[in-house]
Amino acid sequence: MHLLILGGTTEARRLAELLDDITGLTVTNSLAGRVANPRLPPGRTRVGGFGGAQGLAAWLREHEVDAVVDATHPFAGTISFNAAQAAAATHVPLLALRRPGWVPVEGDRWHEVGSLGEAARSLPALGRRVFLTTGRMGLEAFAALDDLWFLVRSVDAPEPPCPSRMEVLLDRGPFVLDGERALLRRHRIDVVVTKDSGGAATAPKLTAAREAGLPVVVVRRPPTPQGVPVVPDPAQAVLWLRQHLDLGSLRGTD
Ligand code: NAP
Repeated sequence: MHLLILGGTTEARRLAELLDDITGLTVTNSLAGRVANPRLPPGRTRVGGFGGAQGLAAWLREHEVDAVVDATHPFAGTISFNAAQAAAATHVPLLALRRPGWVPVEGDRWHEVGSLGEAARSLPALGRRVFLTTGRMGLEAFAALDDLWFLVRSVDAPEPPCPSRMEVLLDRGPFVLDGERALLRRHRIDVVVTKDSGGAATAPKLTAAREAGLPVVVVRRPPTPQGVPVVPDPAQAVLWLRQHLDLGSLRGTD
């Protein structure tokens, strides 16, 4: 049996760990290649795009893939549609492993927006010192905001065009609440910008912002393909694989 995991997330790595050492199961982890030193999951790893939905379909046929789990980030909009198209063309079962989005709680001051551009347009009315946690891609949306100062946190350094007044903090989650509180205080942050990535690893910034009474601009998730089954965590992905592949006993679920 050959499983392809479209990865680049904590959940993708966790799924590969749960499936490690299963006799008769080969797992290929696919990474886009955006991060210079990615944390590699167990199993085989391939890096780089497939060449669109057709390229992915050809790869599935050539490597005799029996199932695909799309465990990419909720904001990786293109690859999920490519996976749906390729799976349909090749009749390979496809599952989406998608961590649930965050839900605001009492005390949160969220401003939900549909894009990074909309987030940028909302900022001047909300504050002048911005904690920008949307990743290193797409910073051009904020590049014209010369009156604002940005603390940009990302795994790898962003590339221009970027905001002119910016400090870069290279770091990778999980983050802890005390650290996030201290960061907001030290940099006198008055507004936070985030994607609705979901998950526990980067959620403490939301708690820290709530405690400090700060507004948070939350970029809503892009649409996902219709008709693809979705599970919220790796353990449920394993259960789905049990139903779709002839697997023996799997670690973590027995
Ligand atoms: P995207 O916009 O959906 O994908 C753009 C192109 O990158 C795809 O068409 C595909 O190229 C290639 N690609 C994406 N994910 C791939 C994968 N896992 N394996 C092989 N090729 C892949 O994706 P993105 O937003 O640039 O994200 C790229 C990767 O970073 C994803 O794997 C995602 O899980 C991870 N990531 C993204 C974010 C985010 O905020 N977007 C955050 C954390 C991690 P071809 O068309 O040539 O196949």
